[in-house]
Amino acid sequence: MLTTVVGSYPSLPEEPSSLSQKLSSFFGTYDDYKPAIEAAVRDQIKVGIDIISDGQVRAGMVEIFARAIPGMTVEGNTPKVLGKIKPSTTSISAEDLKYALKFSEGISREYSSNQGTIEDGVKGVKGIITGPSTIIFSSLIEGFYKNKDEAIIDLAHALKREAEFLEEAGAVYVQIDEPFLSTGLPDIKTAKKAVKIITEDLKVPTAMHVCGNVSDVFEKLLTFPVDIIDCEFAGIPGNIDVLEVAANKGLTKGKKIGFGCIDTKKKEVEDPKKVSELIKRGVKCVGAENIIVDPDCGMRMLPKEAAFSKLKSMTEAVKWLS
Ligand SMILES: [Zn+2]
Repeated sequence: MLTTVVGSYPSLPEEPSSLSQKLSSFFGTYDDYKPAIEAAVRDQIKVGIDIISDGQVRAGMVEIFARAIPGMTVEGNTPKVLGKIKPSTTSISAEDLKYALKFSEGISREYSSNQGTIEDGVKGVKGIITGPSTIIFSSLIEGFYKNKDEAIIDLAHALKREAEFLEEAGAVYVQIDEPFLSTGLPDIKTAKKAVKIITEDLKVPTAMHVCGNVSDVFEKLLTFPVDIIDCEFAGIPGNIDVLEVAANKGLTKGKKIGFGCIDTKKKEVEDPKKVSELIKRGVKCVGAENIIVDPDCGMRMLPKEAAFSKLKSMTEAVKWLS
């Protein structure tokens, strides 16, 4: 069974400490987020995560896109739509992905092999973008658009370009985070059309992460044009019943399930035995070959020690099962 993370990891930017860092700081080329990416990558590789992230260390999942995409901005802490949304000519996070990939290649030799595809069960770095429905429903519309649906579709075209940048940068797959889909607020048809715009021309596999209680939307999520549907099954026990029902109806066919098995809202570290029991329930529903194991959600809000130990608990649980 493959293991991955949802994305964010609690590592903070660091002041320059070595001589070379101090020199690059003097010349204005020091990036204090790079040590944070390194720390996130190092921890994920140490515990044996197969498909890692760059740790999403720079900014919140909405702000990072709202700040960079033409037509949008962030004022105070509020993301806003001010004009027509257009694709950005430069990538928002491809440089971080490339840096994580390069850094991981350097250190992963100590732990295990690196290159390959998702099917081989070997390591890679995933590209992550926040979904258009989630970004628009988190933003104030102050100009150009009369309704949210039109803004979502234009934003999907902008994010399509970003997904292509991530693919070009070497992402092993591209994940779209759409937590708002479990709230029942966005129109599912528009959300699906928007996801299709982003994924239809990509060559790498695609995933969609939706956290929260998905009991009302899970069967609809399974019809979205992505390869992996990722939900939280530890913190929201009802979600596994929904998975069971959908699997019995044959609705999970052709999809892989991102199986969140670590509660990311609690600091307490899970016993690997308990985690493996939960994973077994998922395996019973869709088969081990269709499960990708990960934590419920991003880990940004957890203390670093807890995040690390929780990931360790998860990879130990998977080892026991294989
Ligand atoms: Zn989430």
